[in-house]
Amino acid sequence: MSTTSTIEQRYEKLHPKSKVLALQAASLFPDGVTHASRKQGPFAVHMDHGKGPRKWDVDGIEYIDFRTGHGSMILGQANPAVVKAVQDQVAKGTHLSAGTELEIKWAQTVKRLVPSVEKLRFVSSGTEANMMAFRIARRFTGKEKIVKFKGAFHGWSDDEFVTDPVTDRRYGIPRGTSDAMVLVDAHDLNALDKTLSGRSDIAAVILQGDDINRPEYVKGVEHLCRSHAVLFFMDEVVSGFRWSRAGSQGHYGVKPDISTFGKILAGGLPGGCLGGRGDIMDMIGEHGIAHPGTFNANPVSAAAGVTALGIVEREPIGERADAAARRLREGLNRIFKTMEIPGGAYGVSSIVVMSIGQDVDVTDPYATPKESDGRQQAGKTVFDLLQLAMVNEGLWAYPTWPILSATHTDKDVDQALEKYEAAFREVRKAGLI
Ligand code: PLP
Repeated sequence: MSTTSTIEQRYEKLHPKSKVLALQAASLFPDGVTHASRKQGPFAVHMDHGKGPRKWDVDGIEYIDFRTGHGSMILGQANPAVVKAVQDQVAKGTHLSAGTELEIKWAQTVKRLVPSVEKLRFVSSGTEANMMAFRIARRFTGKEKIVKFKGAFHGWSDDEFVTDPVTDRRYGIPRGTSDAMVLVDAHDLNALDKTLSGRSDIAAVILQGDDINRPEYVKGVEHLCRSHAVLFFMDEVVSGFRWSRAGSQGHYGVKPDISTFGKILAGGLPGGCLGGRGDIMDMIGEHGIAHPGTFNANPVSAAAGVTALGIVEREPIGERADAAARRLREGLNRIFKTMEIPGGAYGVSSIVVMSIGQDVDVTDPYATPKESDGRQQAGKTVFDLLQLAMVNEGLWAYPTWPILSATHTDKDVDQALEKYEAAFREVRKAGLI
């Protein structure tokens, strides 16, 4: 029996209930899942509940959680204060079809944490926040094009998902939408300068805050936007309230015209917002852009958000998550060394990125492997098999992209390292690393 099938067989044996649910899911959901990244192996494991840094699947198996709600749960699962705030609000009504005091407090908290935000609007997701950001950029400048950096992810709407004309058409993105986005090589100020110098139809440049950008690059993007009179937007959906209390803009010391947020913003419930310069945000309403949305600033998300952000503001949440990530990076790099696996763990803040198969200078916080980052470098087969092997060990993570929370203790991280090492050993037996 090959080790690949050994890993898969163990996976199947451990998860009989998940397998039954996955069969039902296959007949209900295209591709059998409700989010592209939840697909894995022969069938997806289905979760039951979580507490702090751990969660349990429907077969009762416990995991150390490094997916942390796609990055939204920096306070860990079921934080008691967030649970109470949500329970209290549910009892008071889940949709009052009116403004609430909670949404005011939520907005005031965002403004205190992120000084570039003068005015904001709440939406239901990061995708929606960027959609509206693009629209107000066009309305404000009277120009149509948005610069997106190649490989950046800003959500799944048509314009956010523009990749290249062939791929776009294949997946249902209209030509006009592709034409409205200008793709520029990432991490290359000359390429951006050339694009901005060569045309006069650019409304805004959007930079993904959690991409591993060097400080001089981020400052350079801001400077080029200013000197070419183009709006500078930052997508802080992942980095917001994580890279610093003011997100990656606080980390780098830049001031975007508009920033978009999601994930941590709503304390693990659905939510997003866009905020920034008042004169630009006033394109909504005063200057004609209508912004409906049934669940904008819904009181349950507002209750969770105001509570979670209050904790992030008062307690060393980001600092704790960063320290856990540092410990995980160091431990992983010891494993890479002792097992003689080319590559390493790197990254900034509380997200760890791994390159498997290609060396990276792990002493440089902003280093990336020469060709690409760990997510691609891992190669599909290694990635897939490692994911199954990790699940078998009780480790729940995007294999090469663990996202930590403030609830991960040294003990959790050390246990996770043992599990990573065991999973690497299994994948090595299959001859893949
Ligand atoms: N922007 C970035 C950088 C993201 O990583 C994501 C989602 O992961 C989004 C935007 C979209 O946010 P949402 O999934 O809330 O629509």
